[in-house]
Amino acid sequence: MTPGAGQGFSAFSAPRFTVDHMVIRLGRYLRLAGYDVFWSRKFRTHELITISNRDDRIFLTRNRHLSDEYPEPRHWLYVVPEHPVEQFRFVVGKLELGLEGAFSRCVLCNLPLAPVTDPEQQLDRVPVDVLNRRLPLRKCPGCGRVYWKGSHVHNTVRRLGLPLPDDRAGNQDGEVRCGRGSGPT
Ligand SMILES: [Zn+2]
Repeated sequence: MTPGAGQGFSAFSAPRFTVDHMVIRLGRYLRLAGYDVFWSRKFRTHELITISNRDDRIFLTRNRHLSDEYPEPRHWLYVVPEHPVEQFRFVVGKLELGLEGAFSRCVLCNLPLAPVTDPEQQLDRVPVDVLNRRLPLRKCPGCGRVYWKGSHVHNTVRRLGLPLPDDRAGNQDGEVRCGRGSGPT
């Protein structure tokens, strides 16, 4: 069965997703929005469906005939638009997804980010000017990547309509951008 519109999800009932190989960019955007999204190029479609069912995830695909070709996922949604940004908006609208958890998850590892309590220890991963401006930093417990406000994903944020990252440090220069640091070498 496909999840119907109008269900609505809150932070207390956040759905988790699996994306197939055709909509991985969509999966990245959903992670940016804070959602738990699984994908892997190592698995074939029927294996992804098995994992999706096991974890009670919603399977997102652009294969309209998925259920004719594979065992039907317990929950799945045919993503109509072709363009990833439109796909993102489609899923958010269809499932009434909240966006208040944006920028709380590592786009690479799918793990929730943790606040950085020792910014001085991040010199190898964060530019000095970012540290000097005391921007709030968050770190992935998996890959060690540090995220902060910057410019890298400004356009993505605007296109996706995501709320701006939390800025508890009260950035006074009016910048409304967010970004991410370089990964570990
Ligand atoms: Zn990570």
